[in-house]
Amino acid sequence: MSATRTATATRRDIGPDGISMFGPDFPFAYDNHVRHPAGIGRVPPDQHGREVAVIGAGCAGLVTAFELMKLGLRPVVYEADRLGGRMRSERFAGHAGLVAELGAMRFPESSTTLFHYFDRCGLRTRPFPNPLTPASNSTVIDLKSRPVYAEGEEDLPPIYRKVLKAWDDLLENRAAFAAMQEAIRQRDVAAIKAIWNPQVKRLDDCTFYQFLAHSTEFASFRDREIFGQVGFGTGGWDTDFPNSMLEILRVAYTSADDNHRAVIGGVQQLPETLWQLAPSRDEMAHWPAGTSLALLHEGPPRPGVREIYRTHPGNITLVDQSGAIRTYPAMVMSAQVWMLLSQIRCDEALFPADHWTAIERTHYTQSSKTFVAVDRPFWQDKDPRTGRDAMSTTLTDRMTRSTYLLGEGDDRPGVICLSYTWNDDALKWLPLSASQRMDVMLESLGEIYPGVNLRRHIITDPITVSWELEPYFMGAFKANLPGHYRYQHRLFTHFMQDRLPPGYQGVFLCGDDVSWTAGWAEGAVTTALNAVWGVMRHLGGETHPDNPGPGDVFDAIAPLELDD
Ligand SMILES: Cc1cc2nc3c(=O)[nH]c(=O)nc-3n(C[C@H](O)[C@H](O)[C@H](O)COP(=O)(O)OP(=O)(O)OC[C@H]3O[C@@H](n4cnc5c(N)ncnc54)[C@H](O)[C@@H]3O)c2cc1C
Repeated sequence: MSATRTATATRRDIGPDGISMFGPDFPFAYDNHVRHPAGIGRVPPDQHGREVAVIGAGCAGLVTAFELMKLGLRPVVYEADRLGGRMRSERFAGHAGLVAELGAMRFPESSTTLFHYFDRCGLRTRPFPNPLTPASNSTVIDLKSRPVYAEGEEDLPPIYRKVLKAWDDLLENRAAFAAMQEAIRQRDVAAIKAIWNPQVKRLDDCTFYQFLAHSTEFASFRDREIFGQVGFGTGGWDTDFPNSMLEILRVAYTSADDNHRAVIGGVQQLPETLWQLAPSRDEMAHWPAGTSLALLHEGPPRPGVREIYRTHPGNITLVDQSGAIRTYPAMVMSAQVWMLLSQIRCDEALFPADHWTAIERTHYTQSSKTFVAVDRPFWQDKDPRTGRDAMSTTLTDRMTRSTYLLGEGDDRPGVICLSYTWNDDALKWLPLSASQRMDVMLESLGEIYPGVNLRRHIITDPITVSWELEPYFMGAFKANLPGHYRYQHRLFTHFMQDRLPPGYQGVFLCGDDVSWTAGWAEGAVTTALNAVWGVMRHLGGETHPDNPGPGDVFDAIAPLELDD
């Protein structure tokens, strides 16, 4: 089957500037595949109603379950914590409309497959107030105790503009940025591979910091420091400096850090709606009209999984936290893969040894967020002396690092994300309680905005999270370190199970930590579609010839394989 056929896209299908998260490692048009009128495939009628286990009710698990249900299978979803996973929109008690987006919070328009499911679930979005974007009104960059106020990039002092230009130049000079974005826009698989594959060989061993420090564009330490603290798109990236440069290029090429939108009312509505949604009769095999995941489960998902074994003949047997034992012909694991090392007792025969190594070596970013609700969007008040906003989206080298102001309209209560941090910056909050965290944050912000009595506007207790402390996550999202490409390759390609000995088939991985773009829900959703394709094939099914799936075109567009 030709790669170009599946790669074809109309402009209508992709983000407004034509960029989607199409590749660069595995350039498959998941967005078109999932929207195709022929559907994403079928299983033989004698498989209809057959149970398939799905571990995890985050967005990957629920997209998997939803699509398996449409094929006429009976997904059995297990969830150890709460429905939604890292799409966790925590409500402020007594303020029904206000949510703290503790996990996923802002979605690049290039996440075209994710947006398909937003549309499918009737969710509405609005621009997210990232620094220096129109949605944020104004931005304050506070480095070394010197706050700078800007309403757009043009207001920044020359040194900041120089640093932003250095990043653009570096991407262009050393990573063929414009050519790659054009290849992605055109969905030109050959051009994408021609640019990307040599970079994989050259940069798998290179950290983000080395890439900067060894360039002429960032020869100055001061420029690197400012870049690390101010970053591009969403804010400072210095906590990503130790990561593989390939991770950063994937984000930059696919505009994952640009044009972000927030889901009105909270993104947890996506998994919640997928749970309740009944596909129309003509898009679903076998099940009667009105069938939904909730209906198939007659209530919530089953409890968390405690043990997984392979049992004869080619079955997978699960024990859940209630002690119930059930056996399936196939299983999809959507929880973060470290769960297989710690929370779930696993049969070693689940995976070949190389895959276990890849699971063990997976590296997660730590992350902490703290939110409060406030009485009104007071940050829009103008300082009578300067004419500036009282408070702005804030990037700083202080403890808070990034602060976002999330208004719900004039004079209505709103939300402030006091601090969103990663890695070392997140670990600094770890021993503190929510109110201790808030106190330190208010102190930091008080230094930047001495004239604002922030505390006077706070109307709720803070809501906080440290994802590394959450037992069913153990980290926020994967970030590959140098030398991790081969591990990533093993986990991503595991759904191509014809290549595995029969004894290792039937268990499928999905979720953003299996994807090439961890930390973005698009990766969770697209790897879910790989798993669905894998299960369908495992049970003797196939795709429609007009709509080949990711596994049908795998050989033509496969990610580069590095030798050992
Ligand atoms: C702090 C943070 C910020 C983020 N920001 C963004 C963003 O702005 N934009 C974006 O696109 N993405 C963002 N992401 C990433 C996004 O949240 C994820 O890509 C997506 O939610 C992952 O979905 P998933 O289904 O792969 O995994 P999860 O949501 O982790 O789902 C896995 C589920 O498995 C469950 N589970 C674990 N163990 C077991 C067990 N033993 N038995 C049964 N169930 C189990 C878990 O409880 C969980 O519900 C962010 C993530 C975090 C943490």
